[in-house]
Amino acid sequence: MNYDEIFPKIISHAKEYGFIFQSSEIYDGLSAVYDYGQLGVELKNNIKMAWWKAMVQMHENIVGLDSAILMHPTVWKASGHVDAFNDPLIDNKDSKKRYRADVLIEEQIDKYYQKAIKDADKRAQKEGWEKGSEEYNSFLEKGRNGVKAQELQTRLEEALNAEDSLTALRDVIIEADIVCPISGSKNWSEVKQFNLMFKAQLGATEGSAMDIYFRPETAQGTYVNYLNVQKTSRMKLPFGIAQIGKAFRNEIVARQFIFRMREFEQMEMQFFIKPGTQGEWFEYWKEQRRKWHQALGLDPSKMRFHLHEKLAHYADAAEDIQFTFPFGTKELEGIHSRTDFDLGRHQEFSGKKLQYFDPETQESFVPYVVETAVGLDRTFLAHLSNAYDEEEVPSAKGTMEERKVLRLHPVLAPYKVAVFPLVRKDGLPEIAREIIDDLKFEYNVMYDEKDAVGRRYRRHDAIGTPYCVTVDYETKDDNMVTIRERDSMHQDRIPIKKVNDYIRDRLDWRNVLK
Ligand code: ATP
Repeated sequence: MNYDEIFPKIISHAKEYGFIFQSSEIYDGLSAVYDYGQLGVELKNNIKMAWWKAMVQMHENIVGLDSAILMHPTVWKASGHVDAFNDPLIDNKDSKKRYRADVLIEEQIDKYYQKAIKDADKRAQKEGWEKGSEEYNSFLEKGRNGVKAQELQTRLEEALNAEDSLTALRDVIIEADIVCPISGSKNWSEVKQFNLMFKAQLGATEGSAMDIYFRPETAQGTYVNYLNVQKTSRMKLPFGIAQIGKAFRNEIVARQFIFRMREFEQMEMQFFIKPGTQGEWFEYWKEQRRKWHQALGLDPSKMRFHLHEKLAHYADAAEDIQFTFPFGTKELEGIHSRTDFDLGRHQEFSGKKLQYFDPETQESFVPYVVETAVGLDRTFLAHLSNAYDEEEVPSAKGTMEERKVLRLHPVLAPYKVAVFPLVRKDGLPEIAREIIDDLKFEYNVMYDEKDAVGRRYRRHDAIGTPYCVTVDYETKDDNMVTIRERDSMHQDRIPIKKVNDYIRDRLDWRNVLK
């Protein structure tokens, strides 16, 4: 299935089964804001749990925090967000549509790249090259469209680093003949800076209300609390503080479903270290985070590291973990070496000392920070895209039929087990209920008695339930049930009293996080 086909399918699947709904849908929705339905909230909670276990539970020197979304406005002056948290925007004067100038160029690069892949596929078929072979890759790179993609990429990077980057970005758009996807015209405005923070007013009295911001990242709540946490937990460097929480950004282009939202959730960990050790910790966390994504089943061939050419105002090194979503290879997580920028600025703006006292060297200094920052919603989308599959399988009638299956890692699946009585009578439902009553203390379990068993399997394949247990007439005699695995569709007959062990063995976090 190609990209254009698969992405709309994933979006409608997510809606049809209750993973994700458009916010305020009955009022025609609110752009780039989404609600998670009954299955979505389970998958989301499981991703959070997997992150918290890997970061906090598995590291003696990392603790959690849950800081408020609203903070003193000076926090955002100190952090640089008031002055520098901007995106370059450009308007098309004919369609009146607004775009992010750099994203417009990136999309053009992507178009060239997609064409380059098509060219290479055609050539490979003619020459009998393997996809991914040396000849194939070389053609991909040196073919006409591959060269165009590379050239435009270089020009984009130069423009982003130029002193007057706004003019430089506009020049690239004009020179590369980029047209508005709606109007098809090249009638572009100047490029302007647009601040991404949402503003609100704190306090009810007119005149004395204070302008505040909805936090655009969780990290600042961690920085302003780092000494509170360090002193009360008596931790020594290096140590980390992990936080999961909502963040808000007034994104200019908010498309691609839950990839770019205006309200989203982040899972960020700030790791406080001695100055000078940032290089080794940066490499350590890059590797840890790559492993985490892969342990949960993301396809390694769809992941790569991407070095930032243009560094944010706070960073001395930054690398993204990118994932190949159905619409292209994009940032999933950022690993940032933030130096002492944030703590240093908060020290300056608050007038309070934010130094760490090192008991070994008897010295005080402002620690450096290496941050891992991953979007919960983007991780959700990566898993949904990675897991979605359609295949032809034999039906009960002996013909072939299509099944849609979400091959989610069992620890992430919204429901771990579905229990079916073969029929709705003769005591079978009661046995099924007894099995559920035993399992429900540990797992999310669903009872399902409607339709033929084959249809129930299809329903649970579609929502990613890894195990289905069927109670039939023989169960009444031998106390055995059929347990069926989602991906292989393999069935085992096991004693009822072994069901819990069977599931537990396969959902053991030890096997996931080791
Ligand atoms: P992008 O370049 O895609 O705008 P970013 O580099 O600004 O992202 P960070 O500030 O590093 O993102 O935020 C850390 C993580 O938060 C990102 O890797 C991403 O997974 C997630 N994230 C950022 N912005 C959004 C958004 N608008 N919607 C959903 N997730 C987001």
